[in-house]
Amino acid sequence: MNPTLSRRAFLKGGVATAATAVTATALPGTAEAADPGGYLTTLLDLSKCVGCGECVTACRETHEGDFPRPGKPFPSMIPNRVPVEDFSLAQEVEDRLTPYNWLTIQEAEVTVNGENQTLYIPRRCMHCVNPPCVKLCPWGAAVQEKNGLSRINDSLCLGGAKCRKACPWHIPQRQTGVGLYLDILPSLAGNGVMYKCDRCHQRLKKGELPACIDACPEGVQSIGPREEMIQKAKTLAKEINGYIYGLEENGGTNTLYVSPVPFDTLHNAMEKGPGLPDLAPHGNSMAMAENVGAAMLLAPLAGFAAAAGRIFLKLKQTAKEEDPS
Ligand code: SF4
Ligand code: SF4
Ligand code: SF4
Repeated sequence: MNPTLSRRAFLKGGVATAATAVTATALPGTAEAADPGGYLTTLLDLSKCVGCGECVTACRETHEGDFPRPGKPFPSMIPNRVPVEDFSLAQEVEDRLTPYNWLTIQEAEVTVNGENQTLYIPRRCMHCVNPPCVKLCPWGAAVQEKNGLSRINDSLCLGGAKCRKACPWHIPQRQTGVGLYLDILPSLAGNGVMYKCDRCHQRLKKGELPACIDACPEGVQSIGPREEMIQKAKTLAKEINGYIYGLEENGGTNTLYVSPVPFDTLHNAMEKGPGLPDLAPHGNSMAMAENVGAAMLLAPLAGFAAAAGRIFLKLKQTAKEEDPS
């Protein structure tokens, strides 16, 4: 897709204004769980990506101010099986997701139309329609906005990593030694802050495209209303005799990939490991009974915990203003 057209269509549609408020907690795993009508969805045409990494650089530059600055030494954790996760000395790493790298390019050597070829796959949060990371965060630190993006509030997150466990792709990445847990129970609760792509929510608020979309010289990504992007993905897949990922995965995601080869072929050809999301056919995790139950139990607690966290932060700020020493 022509990036200029994508840009124009994005701004013309006024979709950039769709949304900053956080959605009310909804029942998970049901058709009513989300309101995809107002959602923005990104579409990535994998046949166009050349793996140049401009998007990765743009993401890092845009979010430099959001990256963690941990204090050391880290408090020792009780129990001591709680692992320290420290990427502060590996901030330059780009070949996996980290708290300092929210977008990475994966590679797969495959055969396309009889020719051996490398396909490049930009990976970051999928922005699920019904995100388990949001619904299962016990502290209300992960939120979903009306435009469908999900993000983690770094001032409320305690770094317990429930979101990473709940995420089928294990996207959020933890940095120890930062965040609220240091002020509350540094040895007993949490272990830092979780970080991931926030789909450039601050840029979207200003009517700007996410940095990675804006920076791509090949027009790999486009963004627009969910239904429109689904239709575009289907049309593109038909044109190239290709395949779509994200329509059904985890109940549907606001990120759609179109590939000239089947996704199980890509999945099998890709390197896997921590910080390297797979392309497996994940079912709807929020439709699973234990997650439905957990989300219903957690909803009031998460709201209470988030409010308590905000009050704590306010008190801390007031105390600092009164005694700057
Ligand atoms: S991909 Fe993972 S981190 Fe992103 S919204 Fe879905 S569950 Fe959350
Ligand atoms: S949408 Fe923004 S935060 Fe997400 S990968 Fe792109 S540039 Fe990074
Ligand atoms: S998505 Fe665009 S900017 Fe990113 S690696 Fe692919 S071609 Fe380069």
